[in-house]
Amino acid sequence: MIDEQQNSFNLVCPPLIRNNKNISLGHGSGGFLTHELIKDIFNKYFANPILDEGNDGAVVNFPLTEGKMVVSTDAHIISPLFYPGGDIGRLAVSGTVNDIAMMGAKPLFLTASFIIEEGFPVESLEKIASSMKITCEEAGVKIIAGDTKVTEKGKGDGIYISTTGVGWLPEGRNIQGQNAIKGDAVIISGTIGDHATAILQARGGLGFQTNVTSDVSPLNQMLENLLQQVPNIHVMRDPTRGGLGTTLVEISQQSNVCIQIKENSLPIQREVKTVCEMLGFDPLYMANEGKVVIILPEEKCSVALDILHRHRYGQNAVRIGSVVDTNKARVLLQTPLGTNRVIEMLMGEMLPRIC
Ligand code: MG
Repeated sequence: MIDEQQNSFNLVCPPLIRNNKNISLGHGSGGFLTHELIKDIFNKYFANPILDEGNDGAVVNFPLTEGKMVVSTDAHIISPLFYPGGDIGRLAVSGTVNDIAMMGAKPLFLTASFIIEEGFPVESLEKIASSMKITCEEAGVKIIAGDTKVTEKGKGDGIYISTTGVGWLPEGRNIQGQNAIKGDAVIISGTIGDHATAILQARGGLGFQTNVTSDVSPLNQMLENLLQQVPNIHVMRDPTRGGLGTTLVEISQQSNVCIQIKENSLPIQREVKTVCEMLGFDPLYMANEGKVVIILPEEKCSVALDILHRHRYGQNAVRIGSVVDTNKARVLLQTPLGTNRVIEMLMGEMLPRIC
């Protein structure tokens, strides 16, 4: 009897999702179409024993006999969704993985919420899910819970993805913005402004072609390797929105120290420099999605640079300055002429929807 009902249902309403080219409101209904979407896209790319249980929450064994848990969350509304060097999927995984890694923790699990606009191409969703899977594998993390909602056409912009990450902080590690002290060296792991430039390029806002690609990457493996060999790092932070300038001001305020960086030492690709000069942007405020600022004792600087240089995401790491004073929360940029310019936080929004 049940089989007959099922058959007649299928005759009237054939399995829609596999033939659908676009997301419909029904895919967010929680019913049949949502289950088909989960089965056909999300389970296909994110499958693991914890997610596959299919319950309301993920139950995990957590190695918390020692150390602490670190949690971070991030919403991703970038436009466009696909750009040179990355896409919203790689960004949604890397962004949260990196925030956990900046604390010195090992990212373990992610959750992912998708807010999709009605009419969004299923093919694009599949590309994004596939990119998330590849980035998760690179970072060594699993997506263990998720959610999908669909908004009416015109009430979203394709897709937004929110990710939450859980990581494990080994006992004894203390890496925070408050820890910079006078005498510390300041390192940046590579060229600045690449992500923002790639997004500008993808929006067609440059009026000319560049070869700059986004640096969007999970940095946790590189940083874990660094911390194994140089455990006494004081601060790590990823200079994302607001760029290197804003990140250094944040740290100077948290630690109440004066940080001085040398303009000549800032690693900037020639094309990024050109874009900034033409459009009047300051590379110090251009967003990055695969870079880290590292503040550590002066005597550990060269060994840290050697380790970073051996990793593809740290090949262009350089020392850019020092923590020069206490009780003076500010950032100074030393120009080639030897004068100092005070660096402020980014005011307003330079490029909306950059991440
Ligand atoms: Mg961050």
